[in-house]
Amino acid sequence: MIGLRIRQVRDLLGWTQKKLESESGVDQGLLSRIEAGAEPKPETLAAIAAATGYPPSWFLRPMSEFPDGTVQFRKKAAATQRADRRARRRLEVSVELVDAALGDTGLSIPQVRFPLLDPPQNLDDIEAAAQTMRDRLGLSARGPVPHMMRALERAGAIVVPLDGDLEHHDGLSVWPDPDGGRPIIGFKSEMPGDRLRFTLAHEAGHLAMHRHGVPDGHDAELEANQFAGALLMPRHDAIKAFEGHTVTLRYLANLKAQWGIAIQALIKRAAAIGAIDKEREQLLFRQVGARGWRKNEPVQVDQEEPALIRRILERAYPDSRPNDIAQTLDFPLHLLVGIAGAGRQESDDGAEVLTLDDARRPATRRASG
Ligand SMILES: [Zn+2]
Repeated sequence: MIGLRIRQVRDLLGWTQKKLESESGVDQGLLSRIEAGAEPKPETLAAIAAATGYPPSWFLRPMSEFPDGTVQFRKKAAATQRADRRARRRLEVSVELVDAALGDTGLSIPQVRFPLLDPPQNLDDIEAAAQTMRDRLGLSARGPVPHMMRALERAGAIVVPLDGDLEHHDGLSVWPDPDGGRPIIGFKSEMPGDRLRFTLAHEAGHLAMHRHGVPDGHDAELEANQFAGALLMPRHDAIKAFEGHTVTLRYLANLKAQWGIAIQALIKRAAAIGAIDKEREQLLFRQVGARGWRKNEPVQVDQEEPALIRRILERAYPDSRPNDIAQTLDFPLHLLVGIAGAGRQESDDGAEVLTLDDARRPATRRASG
């Protein structure tokens, strides 16, 4: 167990064994043997704990690793693999945090309502999948998604901000338990609001359509992108928005403000439903490029923040400060704060509140939809 924990912490920090050796003074050969299962001396463990900033008790706790193959990885360079492993580990410890906080508090969190769909055969399947997802998320069949993050959390997903870089990917998602359980989504923090909403919708597509892998000949990324477009702007709405209109950048900027979808994603959506042809699509993308909008689009879309984990901690440990909670749970403070997003303020708009059920006392019910 200690060996697994050391590897987990190294992954979380993005450290090689060599790096841990130089930070802790513990010989790399010994580290390698401990990671393979050898029992360390107490002073060795103390040195590793001190160097990594994780409490010694962390390394003694049992853990369950995510099964392999549940994360959508493609062939990648070593540095990218390290970044992905770090992200995956962060989701792993987030589940631990949630489980520990729920442990004996009697709290229960929203039931998982994600659909389990077959991989799509065509765009019609994807449009239908997105409609099913809207239904499960408690969203109406038409109209903008008011808060993508909250909709996913209310449908039972755990959503976690990642630290560090995930190259070529803005998020990742996992079903930790292949036979059920609760889906987890990680997202790169510091993204514009529209890109975050699209990323979340994209990951929801993977979770719903690719739970048991991706069949040969399928492009999972393309499917998840098409799903995201369809989830954020259903086909009926897209037809109404695009057909019979001259689709210009100005027109798209207005739609972006209304729908919370990036201009570039809107161009793709218009092309997907056949409202603009390839030539028009390419022209619009050239115009986007010429204005320097590829990386930096106009029109700000509100940031969305996860709330579920923070709310669990608030309910499980009322009146406790993050530092006290971290000590109670034997979590490094920075990790707890990073995962829970503690300290960040968010408008407590009743419609956006997540309800947790408390078995011990009557829950204060608030609107949840
Ligand atoms: Zn993806």
